[in-house]
Amino acid sequence: MFTAEMARQWIKESAKKIESNKEQLTDLDQALGDGDHGLNMTRGFKAAVEQLNKETDEPGKVLKDVGTSLLSKIGGASGPLYGTLFMKSGNQLDGTKVQLSDLSSSLRVGVDAMKKRGKAEREEKTMIDLLEPVIELMEEKGNELTSDLLIDKAKEALEHVKEYEAKKGRAAYYKEKSKGKQDAGAQSSYYVIESLAAVLDKDGEA
Ligand code: ADP
Ligand code: MG
Repeated sequence: MFTAEMARQWIKESAKKIESNKEQLTDLDQALGDGDHGLNMTRGFKAAVEQLNKETDEPGKVLKDVGTSLLSKIGGASGPLYGTLFMKSGNQLDGTKVQLSDLSSSLRVGVDAMKKRGKAEREEKTMIDLLEPVIELMEEKGNELTSDLLIDKAKEALEHVKEYEAKKGRAAYYKEKSKGKQDAGAQSSYYVIESLAAVLDKDGEA
C-alpha cells in the first residue's frame, strides 16, 4: 500500500535531504550551470511541505498539490519539470487504496509528461536519466518493489548520468566538457528517490 500519509512523509523527507545537501546541489549547478539549483530546490520543497494537503486520505491529491507548489516556487528549468512530474502522477492516482504498482504506473505518466515538457530524452544528462530507469524498475517489480532495489538502481543511474554529455539546459553549453561531471538535477532526483525508499522501509512492506 501507498497511503496519503506515506506521500506526505516522502515530501517531508525529500525536503530534509535536499536542504541538508543544498550546497552540494549549488556547487554541481555552478560547475555546469548558474548555481541556483540548491536554492531553487530548497525553496520549492519547503513550500511543498508548508502547503501539504493534510486533510486528504488520497495520495494522488497530496502529490498533485505538491506539483502545484513546486511549479510555483522552484523557478528555473527544474520548477515546471518537477511540478509536471508530481502533478501528472498525482492526477493519475485514484482513491485511497493505492498499491505500489499503481504508484509506479502513475510515475510513468508523470515522467513521460516531464520528458515532453522539457523535450528531453534519455542520455541527455538531466534528471530524466535518474528518474526514468528507477521508474522502469518500479514498473517491472510492481508490488514486489523493495527499498534496497530502489536505492541500488538510483545509485547505478547516478553513475551513468555523470558520463553523459549534456544536451539540455545550461549544461549543454559545456558540450564534451560536461562529461565526467555530475548533473545537479539528477543529484536532486536521487535525493527524492532515496526519500521514497526511506518511506517504503518505514512502512515495513518493502
Ligand atoms: P536552471 O537550469 O534554469 O538554472 P535549475 O538549476 O534549477 O534550473 O535546474 C537545472 C537542472 O534541470 C539540470 O541539472 C537538469 O537536470 C534539469 N534540466 C534542465 N533542462 C532540462 C530539460 N529540458 N529536461 C529535463 N531536465 C532538464
Ligand atoms: Mg541552475
